Amino acid sequence: MPLTLPDSVLQRLKQAKRVVALTGGGMAAASKVPSFREAHTGEWAQYDVSELATVQAYLRNPRMVWEWYEHRRRTAEAAEPNAAHYALVDLEQHYPTFTLITQTIDGLHWRAGSRDLIELNGCLRRSRCYEAGHIISAWEDVGESPPRCPHCGSMLRPGVVMFGEGLPEWELRAARAAVEQCDVFVCVGDVGAIEPVSSFPFAAKRVGALLLSIDAENSIYTLLADHVIEQPLSEALPELVRLVVGEIGELDAAAFPIEP
Ligand SMILES: [Zn+2]
Repeated sequence: MPLTLPDSVLQRLKQAKRVVALTGGGMAAASKVPSFREAHTGEWAQYDVSELATVQAYLRNPRMVWEWYEHRRRTAEAAEPNAAHYALVDLEQHYPTFTLITQTIDGLHWRAGSRDLIELNGCLRRSRCYEAGHIISAWEDVGESPPRCPHCGSMLRPGVVMFGEGLPEWELRAARAAVEQCDVFVCVGDVGAIEPVSSFPFAAKRVGALLLSIDAENSIYTLLADHVIEQPLSEALPELVRLVVGEIGELDAAAFPIEP
């Protein structure tokens, strides 16, 4: 169904220079990436979260925690970006500054082509070594689990934020800075309602940004939104691109008028 927006909203979207989008669980669900709960089945169901996804668990049983995250990485790799992932890439290319803040860990935004990307909870495709924090995305498989860091030989751990861990400092600072300077803030799908992410829409409102909420359940983001779009995100975002950026066909027609 075509999307229509009030003129005032469309004008502000067209004039915006600095745009921030926030995604989370809703975006992953639209690509059928199993959530923690959905992945926590079969042979894994016998283990508690505290045995699989905390630093304490990793120190007690690094092999099991590593294999749990390998299981999740494989399921994420089997998923594909959806139309909304690609629409966010279009928006990044359209606006002078477009920052995508995500709570997803599946790496689908990167695979779709988003580059001004802040992964607040890390990403399954990266690992880091426990001792020195080297970021590693490839290693030689010599049958060790977890593998060793190629730089310093310490054990690798998943490059994602585990339960009970704080968010990474650089990412959090960069996300806050982007929100505090944006003129449009778009919340896409269901996103976490816990601090610090739940404070982002307030920060955006404080600086006078237009707040859009797309396909999010009733939450703080929809309550604060200047405009709420209820269509599923994988339909709504490509439609938003069509309204703001225009269709490629239209651009071509304007640039190269067809001779009669
Ligand atoms: Zn290392």
